[in-house]
Amino acid sequence: MSATPRRRTTTVSIGGVAVGSDHPIVVQSMTNTDTADAAATIEQVAALAQSGSELVRVTVNTDAAARAVPEIVEGLDRVGVSVPIIGDFHYNGHLLLTRHPECARALAKYRINPGNVGGKRQDEHFRTIIEVALTNDKPVRIGVNWGSLDQNLLTSMMDANAASAEPADARDVMMAAMVESAMQSAAFAESVGMAHDRIILSAKVSGVQDLVDVYRALAGRGDYPLHLGLTEAGMGAKGIVASAAGLAILLQEGLGDTIRVSLTPEPGGDRSEEVRVAQQILQSLGLRSFTPQVTSCPGCGRTTSTYFQQLALDIQGHLRERMPVWRSEYPGVEELKVAVMGCVVNGPGESKHADIGISLPGTFEDPKAPVFVDGQLRVTLKGDRIVNEFLEILDDYVQNRYGNGVVKAAQAVRAS
Ligand code: SF4
Repeated sequence: MSATPRRRTTTVSIGGVAVGSDHPIVVQSMTNTDTADAAATIEQVAALAQSGSELVRVTVNTDAAARAVPEIVEGLDRVGVSVPIIGDFHYNGHLLLTRHPECARALAKYRINPGNVGGKRQDEHFRTIIEVALTNDKPVRIGVNWGSLDQNLLTSMMDANAASAEPADARDVMMAAMVESAMQSAAFAESVGMAHDRIILSAKVSGVQDLVDVYRALAGRGDYPLHLGLTEAGMGAKGIVASAAGLAILLQEGLGDTIRVSLTPEPGGDRSEEVRVAQQILQSLGLRSFTPQVTSCPGCGRTTSTYFQQLALDIQGHLRERMPVWRSEYPGVEELKVAVMGCVVNGPGESKHADIGISLPGTFEDPKAPVFVDGQLRVTLKGDRIVNEFLEILDDYVQNRYGNGVVKAAQAVRAS
């Protein structure tokens, strides 16, 4: 089974990164530093980009933050990080973008929340932001969020629903109001002069079923690219699982052109985790490949120690450490499949399905670890150096297959 073909959309270019159905689904992230602290923000953006974030959004909430934006973009340029920076605006975007034209120029896209763009003067403020975007030739994301939904629109739709012969559930009216807010705002942006292919839409909620419903409805209302994400996904396993559950349903249906996983990091935690989770969602669905995949069994009563868990961890760490270099030196290595198994029950079988696999000895098994390469038994390792010897075999395999070996030979055959 494979995913439904992508829903057809326009292509929106964000600082050279193409978002739309003719292009791979883009992974993006957001900083949690004080944007006014340019040094800290540069460091975090660089880390997010290094992890694979293809777009990075920063909060622009004060004059100091707006002043720091050009410094951040220049600083990133100086250290060789070219990821496009998106400005996240709420309440005062119209003021900041007009007071700080160098900020407006430096950003690759503006995120506008139509629910908090300006109370009674909403149209005026929204128009101002669109006009700044037009002056600087920038695209926008119209990002509706159920926590800050346009209250005038919601109230009028709730009133109309209450007066109807068969009132819908309040939750359904809320979902409909989110879609309406996004669509009306996009239409208004176009009426001001924004090109149709300069607009991305999102409608974020924090519940998985709500997410699926609102995006299905939004997808049926036009061909704007969609930014998918569960807002306020939460911490740890809850945030990861809820994001994966919601996004997987939509991505499998061909919906979504860029994704963000909004995890709450633990204090001092690694912000780049959200990038790795987003990549893993796409790679698990077979939609993109970012890094070699390690298949490891969960272990059970047949394994007497944590030895194979440690080996799986060591291999993951080794791959992560090597990938920044391998990515450029060995194109295609992101498709590599490695198996690390705990005993003879599924070990040899799973290892044979991988490109390279090792089956460790379980309880009462001989203390030896057969290594399979391309489905064939290559060698049986014994003794204290199993981990190191396996990693050496892995490195050789990558070099031979993706360096000067099979892939290059296959490319030469195809080219001849
Ligand atoms: S492969 Fe062996 S050790 Fe791993 S879960 Fe299966 S039976 Fe247990």
